[in-house]
Amino acid sequence: MRTWESNVRKVTPYVPGEQPNKPDMIKLNTNENPYPPAPGVRRAMKEFDPDCLRLYPDPGASALTEALAEYCKVKPEQVFIGVGSDDVLAMAFLTFFNSDRPILFPDITYSFYPVWAEAFRIPCRTLPLDEKFRIVTDDYLQDNGGIIFPNPNAPTGLAMGLSEVEKIVQNNKDSVVIVDEAYVDFGAESAVSLIDTYENLLVVQTFSKSRSMAGMRIGFALGSPVLIKYLNDFKHSFNSYTMNQTSLKYGVEAVRDQAYFQETVEKIVRTREHAKEVLGEMGFTFPDSKANFLFITHPDYEAKELFEALREREIYVRYFQSPGIDKYLRVTIGTDEQMEALYTFLREYIKK
Ligand code: PMP
Repeated sequence: MRTWESNVRKVTPYVPGEQPNKPDMIKLNTNENPYPPAPGVRRAMKEFDPDCLRLYPDPGASALTEALAEYCKVKPEQVFIGVGSDDVLAMAFLTFFNSDRPILFPDITYSFYPVWAEAFRIPCRTLPLDEKFRIVTDDYLQDNGGIIFPNPNAPTGLAMGLSEVEKIVQNNKDSVVIVDEAYVDFGAESAVSLIDTYENLLVVQTFSKSRSMAGMRIGFALGSPVLIKYLNDFKHSFNSYTMNQTSLKYGVEAVRDQAYFQETVEKIVRTREHAKEVLGEMGFTFPDSKANFLFITHPDYEAKELFEALREREIYVRYFQSPGIDKYLRVTIGTDEQMEALYTFLREYIKK
């Protein structure tokens, strides 16, 4: 090793899902929304004047902060905005998980958590899910330096009830509890209603899934003004201009169109519930997902084999070669048409 290399902060990076770009592909591998963003976003894009790009964007992201505060019925000082929820979560790890005691998160969960913990030198302890892939609430009532879990969890799609979430927050008043609600709009109960009661609760959401804007990179956190101030202090010690002009403008349009948002989410939920019936009839089993994906397994077919066969037909789903989940495929809910193509392929494959 070269001498300077011993000073390098070495990390094991997160592995994002592949982003193929083929004309006829069916992309069900990274939990994107199959429907376009709200019509107002398209309009705003057409009207966008590039002259404004000369100037730095608003470091406080105030237009989007206010739109979100109004939509979420909170005060603007309870909103923090970042470049996708990955940015918000990473910032929250750095800001709030600064103890010698380990942070706690499930052993099967969003695979970015252990990456941030390692990158930022945060001690962590992973807690096993039960045999039905459920988070065991009581395990989180132990000494810790912070807690994070998604609700619904990924990649299982299982949601916890609000009272269970509250039990964790209420019994951990000495540390910050982060609830990652990337998929909450597809059928789980948000913990936002608890942020006025618990100063130590941070709820993180994203525009990438229910608002069809993964490519725009907008995420946000909601919490007590004191938590949000700490997050902003950290952001301004790092990069004040994280949100570019376009994200701020188009983000506001996405938040404004409540009706379109509702309609898109309902379509995805309907398709998901139908997918449960169809895949169940084929012999697949899965946790009862409340997210925009299903985590499926079949008793007679290896997940890896199915993944590869699907991929050859340019139907992309996600396969994780990790212990405990390597018999499963995570399938994002697409349009009805995309899902029909998936069912047709699987029916034929299973007949073989
Ligand atoms: N949390 C969870 C549980 C996720 O699955 C994802 C998507 N990979 C994210 C956060 C991050 O999403 P984004 O950065 O696009 O907001």
